[in-house]
Amino acid sequence: MTEVPVVTKVEELRNFVRAKRLAGKSIGLTPTMGALHAGHLSLVEILSQHVDCVIVTIFVNPTQFSVNEDFGRYPRQLKEDIEKLLKVKADLVFAPHVEEMYPSDFSTRVIMSGPAQVNLEDRFRPTHFEGVATVVAKLLNQSQADIAIFGEKDYQQLQVIRQLVRDLDISTRILAGPTLREADGLALSSRNIYLSEDERAKAPQLYLALRSAVSQILSGGDISEALKQSCEIIVNAGMKIDYLEARHAESLTPLRSMAEGPARLLVAAHLGKTRLIDNIPVS
Ligand code: AMP
Repeated sequence: MTEVPVVTKVEELRNFVRAKRLAGKSIGLTPTMGALHAGHLSLVEILSQHVDCVIVTIFVNPTQFSVNEDFGRYPRQLKEDIEKLLKVKADLVFAPHVEEMYPSDFSTRVIMSGPAQVNLEDRFRPTHFEGVATVVAKLLNQSQADIAIFGEKDYQQLQVIRQLVRDLDISTRILAGPTLREADGLALSSRNIYLSEDERAKAPQLYLALRSAVSQILSGGDISEALKQSCEIIVNAGMKIDYLEARHAESLTPLRSMAEGPARLLVAAHLGKTRLIDNIPVS
């Protein structure tokens, strides 16, 4: 199979899209920060069932990292990523340099409330969704994609992006892909490579704790009691919890009982130097 073409300039991306449109093709976008794993590839596969052409963006977006986060050490492996994309139906990689996305006179920030300010990720990463919303608005504008796909793995991000396209009348349809996991339940993440062998053995407890809370809640247990017991599982595995909460699955507002709407459990915890996030539906 031939390699997926890679472009780094917005103009090249636009030329590609224009040519495909003239040929009557629909366009899909899979935004990523690279260090691709099977979770990313699954999004490309899902998307390719809905559109004629799939564009994968690979951009480690500096504006969604705060100064004390891992922007500098975030894995960058474009060559390996391009090879991995041979396994799926990707038609173009857009891998811009930082200066292409943020020239020196760049002056705009997309600042959101709603699902971007619900005291989950935003409480611990106050400028994160500002960076995400800004870069996603740019990518959707640059590509003019018919459909873009995002993973449920970053569940709050998914709701933020849905709100963003509604609020700014962006015509791209947003699709969600389910979270791909290792056999032991750990959600695939580019950051899992930071885990030591010992931490890797403990990390699945995060998912197991979520599963345990869901089964307690579904068998009629009290939500806060179920979450308390799950906290213990996570802490006993040596993790430090940022949050573990039951929220309304769409608005992400706090939920005290299952009668208040579809529920989602969301968790973030530190295992050594690595911050892990995960979430599952209560169903
Ligand atoms: P990232 O490269 O971490 O910014 O992720 C790019 C996209 O892949 C986002 O929409 C993520 O939600 C999604 N993603 C990350 N991990 C997984 C996974 N384990 N399963 C499915 N999608 C994922």
